[in-house]
This record gives sequence, structure tokens and C-alpha cells, in this order.
Amino acid sequence: MERDIDQAVKAIVNAGYVIALTGAGISTESGIPDFRSAGGLWAKYNPAEYATIEAFRSDPEKVWRMLFDMVDITVSARYNAGHAALAELEKMDILRCVITQNIDNLHQEAGSENVIEYHGNVSRLECLYCGQDYDKNEFDAVTLIQNRIPPICKKCGEILKPAVILFGELIPEEATVRSLEAARKADAVLVIGTSAVVYPAANIPLVAKQNRAVIIEFNTETTALTNFATDIFIQGMAGQTLPEMVRRLKAAR
Ligand code: NAD
Repeated sequence: MERDIDQAVKAIVNAGYVIALTGAGISTESGIPDFRSAGGLWAKYNPAEYATIEAFRSDPEKVWRMLFDMVDITVSARYNAGHAALAELEKMDILRCVITQNIDNLHQEAGSENVIEYHGNVSRLECLYCGQDYDKNEFDAVTLIQNRIPPICKKCGEILKPAVILFGELIPEEATVRSLEAARKADAVLVIGTSAVVYPAANIPLVAKQNRAVIIEFNTETTALTNFATDIFIQGMAGQTLPEMVRRLKAAR
């Protein structure tokens, strides 16, 4: 691992444009299980039944049973050393943006400013009927969560949906356009804690690779990308490997 981190440092020092793609794995050390973990949401709820836009439209109260469990998990989570290392890389003028598949808002809480969200953010709410958006702080979240009462639109009275992308919904166009533009410009992509099987986000490293970017992967285990596109594989927990890389980058500058 030591040698791999040194190789990554060298590649980053030589790169003009560095971006990151993150997945659920960067937040497991914050206590949010990823898709594979035994305690993950999908072990309890069948996504085809609970996580589609059709399910929300036909029975929002049922989908909110799953959403309340999602909120329970994310509301108490705090960013970890991996998120903080990426925020620091941005402040060092090395990292241009973080493209994330996560909905937990932890990159922003750690201080990352240029975050492109593929699957939305659980801290915002939207009304599918009148289009009104809300910040979660506009509601008495504690009471709603404790009593399992879905939040209601203050304008039209319909049940609100967290601004996360359910299956069957389109990825926000702005996220697709901005991330593809970043992928085309990238000289190096840090791919962190993602199994790289959910498209179109999994396309980002592939588009960058076509343009000769170096793909540096951080994961506890190998993924669909590792033998196929990854140039440097750094095995370990992102909360340890990322801060160590930042420490060595500072020493190398
Ligand atoms: P995934 O669950 O498919 O894969 C997670 C990956 O992270 C795995 O390859 C695993 O080996 C790796 N990993 C786990 N702990 C790690 C650690 N400490 N350090 C480094 N790597 C680690 O996640 P994905 O690829 O992001 O799947 C996509 C979907 O999961 C997205 O749609 C996303 O919205 C959703 N999701 C998000 C959250 C969140 O917001 N935190 C949580 C669960 C699922």
C-alpha cells in the first residue's frame, strides 16, 4: 500500500486537473452502511418495492417507512477523515470537484465546495405536485422523525419527497453535464469507495480513461473497475488511505 500511495502522489503532482468520484464506501466509516453491508437498507427493504418513483407516487406513506430509516441512519452521521482529506485537497488547489453518488451531505459538511451530486441530497425536500423545494430545517424534523409523520408541502398539502433520486427518476441534467465535462478534462481521477456498477456514474472514470487520465482507486476490495481501468489501486479504508496520501502530497510539494 505504501508504494501505491507514493505512485498516486507522483501521478497527482504531475496532473493538472484532478477530480474525485465517491460512493457509499467513503461514508461507511461515518456509520452509514453501504449497499453490501449486512445492516444496509436494502437488506430490510426491497428496492423494487420501496425505492422507485412509481412506488412513491402510488403510496408515499409506505415509501416514507423506508425513508425514515434512511433519515435515521444519515441524520446522526458526521463526516470522517476521508471526507476531510478530499476537502483539504480542494483547498490545496489540487482537487477540482467531487462527483458523489452519496446523498448524505457529508462532503459539504467536511468543507468540500465543488460537489456534484448524482443522486440528490437527503437534506432537501421537494414537492412532486407544485414543484416547491424546502430545506429540511424548515420542518420540525425531530418531531416528524419521532412520530414517523411524512412532511407536508406548505403550499399544496401533498406529501413531500426527499430530494434524492429514486429508481425510475432521471439523474439531474446539470450533474451529468458538469461531471462529463470534468471527466473529459481530468488528468487523474480518484475513485473512492464505489463498486462502480451503478451507471451513469460508473461512466465517469471510463470517459476520463479514454482521454488518458490516470485512474487511482481507493477501496477495501477490488471492483468491476480494478482489473479493467484502474492504474493504481490503493487497498484499505478511505478514512486512512486518503489522509495518508494528503500527508505525503504536502511533503512532496
Ligand atoms: P456500493 O455499496 O455498491 O459499494 C461500496 C463500495 O465501497 C464497495 O466496493 C466497498 O468495497 C467499498 N468500501 C466500503 N467501505 C469502504 C471504506 N471504508 N473505504 C474504502 N472503500 C470502502 O456503493 P456505490 O458504488 O456508491 O453504489 C451506488 C449506490 O449506493 C448509489 O446509488 C448511492 O446513492 C447508494 N448509497 C449511498 C449511501 C450514502 O449516501 N452514504 C449509502 C448507501 C448506498
